[in-house]
Amino acid sequence: MSCIFCGIAAGEVPSDTVAEGEDFVAFRDLQPQAATHVLVIPRRHISGIADIIPKDGDLIGRLMVAAADVARGEGLAEGGYRLVVNQGEAGGQTVEHLHIHVLGGRQMRWPPG
Ligand code: 5GP
Ligand code: ZN
Repeated sequence: MSCIFCGIAAGEVPSDTVAEGEDFVAFRDLQPQAATHVLVIPRRHISGIADIIPKDGDLIGRLMVAAADVARGEGLAEGGYRLVVNQGEAGGQTVEHLHIHVLGGRQMRWPPG
């Protein structure tokens, strides 16, 4: 199985890393959709949010903490930002390795497209 985000997590594919920990990596999106657009991923391959199981709960919690830390580090905490997880085709998921989008630096709209 070849997964681009597993490659990034392993340091085999270059990325603009913003933060990393024992079980996650945060790096800038190649095609940013906002002034700040960072992806937070688990190092372990999980295809998407639909594939998590109860014992992944702590990991998912740490990914959310990492996402909030990234937002704080990018200066977004006061003004606000958006976290997004796309799941499956109708959800707009294009990379099948779980990732949280951290988007900020512009006004977000609702409903999303
Ligand atoms: P999705 O559409 O699956 O929710 O988000 C995948 C995101 O990964 C997209 O925003 C896309 O721009 C980004 N992306 C795809 N390939 C790469 C890559 O090789 N490096 C980086 N940094 N981002 C990527
Ligand atoms: Zn992967």
